[in-house]
Amino acid sequence: MRKYIFVSGGVCSSLGKGIAAASLGSLMECRGLNVRMVKIDPYINVDAGTMSPYQHGEVYVTDDGAETDLDLGNYARYTQSPLSRANSITTGQIYQEVIQREREGRYLGRTVQVIPHITDRIKQRISMIGEQPDADVTIVEVGGTVGDIESVPFLEAGRQMVHELGHENVIFVHLTLVPETAGGELKTKPTQHSVKEMREIGVQPDVLLCRASVPLDEDLRRKIALFTNVEVDAVISASDVETTIYEIPLIFHRQKLDEIVLKKLHLEAGPVDLSEWEHVVRVMRDADRTITIAVVGKYIDLNDSYKSVDEALFHGGIANDVRVELRKVDSEKLEKLDSLDAVFAGVDAILVPGGFGSRGINGMVQVANYARTRRIPYLGICLGMQVMVIEYARSVLGLVDADSTEFAPETEHPVVSLLEDQVNVKMYGGTMRLGSNESKLLPGTTIREVYGAEMIEERHRHRYEFSNSYREQLNDAGLLITAVTADDSLVESVEWKGHPWGIGVQFHPEFKSKPFAAHPLFAGFVAAACAHGGSAEEADGS
Ligand code: GLN
Repeated sequence: MRKYIFVSGGVCSSLGKGIAAASLGSLMECRGLNVRMVKIDPYINVDAGTMSPYQHGEVYVTDDGAETDLDLGNYARYTQSPLSRANSITTGQIYQEVIQREREGRYLGRTVQVIPHITDRIKQRISMIGEQPDADVTIVEVGGTVGDIESVPFLEAGRQMVHELGHENVIFVHLTLVPETAGGELKTKPTQHSVKEMREIGVQPDVLLCRASVPLDEDLRRKIALFTNVEVDAVISASDVETTIYEIPLIFHRQKLDEIVLKKLHLEAGPVDLSEWEHVVRVMRDADRTITIAVVGKYIDLNDSYKSVDEALFHGGIANDVRVELRKVDSEKLEKLDSLDAVFAGVDAILVPGGFGSRGINGMVQVANYARTRRIPYLGICLGMQVMVIEYARSVLGLVDADSTEFAPETEHPVVSLLEDQVNVKMYGGTMRLGSNESKLLPGTTIREVYGAEMIEERHRHRYEFSNSYREQLNDAGLLITAVTADDSLVESVEWKGHPWGIGVQFHPEFKSKPFAAHPLFAGFVAAACAHGGSAEEADGS
């Protein structure tokens, strides 16, 4: 029998439900089970592709080109669950699928309703993942907060699954908040209310994960247990972490969450091995050296906009036994400055991530110029590579109006543009190049050395490309073309000739980095930052 764990949230949003679900998934894997992760987003958008990073944080891209919620990135970092379009469910998709069936006449004249038709479709979508042959446990995270109108059909589908498959096969883990008053007292009432709200829709949570600023003591846990009808051992204290979110699997394990869940699901599993998490936390907490990396973008006001990039940098740190500190820099603000020296003082490396639209572009071009001429390690991702191309064409080739047609459609020198032959490339989305593509790394290049391979597969999410008509001119001038698509039709990466470490990639390596296995580009980039920092220290000392 397949096992399902629903993870719901109460009281308010942004309590870290995705990380809690992912941590639980990781604990199940550390027990030797095969885990599948599913995210439900109750919004009407069909996917996250059109949503602003300001509203919803980063858009995470899967191999098959789905543009999904950033929680899939958390799942990818904490678990081995395969993730594709099928693992991300939205209200928009469910209604679209049901309406399409209705139009095809597949409901045989019946009135199509939320129950049973929408809930049936939700259950089918969940089962499509849960019944994959090697799936032992499927964790279904229901986005939003209990009490929202939007999430009701999904929780109802979960309730029906408990009823149909049995309580030993389907359980509910509910994440709530235990706030602290100004006087420092922890209050359980919001938790009581949110469990009451769950009960009203027919769901009794089996486990509570209680977010709080400090660990909950035994008395408080007993009180919560009494009022919510949850066993006291299953009232887990999810207090704020000290160093890193990668501590959470360890915090949960200390309170026996894995054991409790396995027991409730009548599952036998092996002993737990958490040594990899322990190692990650040890480096992030105790490393002797701290490296500062500037991330220069335009969505820096919201913490989650470059979530996977930030995490991949931390992974690069773990691989190099150093702590990585991020300095977020708003590219738009740089445009008014005469010198970037103060902004980048003490910075060991600079990363320019992806982005859309013209705002802040000139600031990024300035940064690429700064990193190149000051010989500071630089990693440009997608847009960050495109600004490298623009900068080089302007400064070195002297094409002062060189630009991307995204920002200057009429430019005389479109060094980045929409390409005619782009249509030949395997594309999943409309006009976007989305999902995984093969690239060939050219011999004798830094990127080839970094990957230690000739052929790689990385994910894309962009419209514009390095213009092929400028390949020769730029390459000859020292902006080396270092990777191309397997058919050589598109440029996939560039590097500055003679620079200690300046690489731009058209794809998004950050989506494939893991805490236990840093992506080679991020490991290499942080290593270069360490070397740069080292040489700066020596220079200072002499
Ligand atoms: N806006 C650029 C493009 O569409 C870069 C996209 C990105 O950085 N993801 O090509």
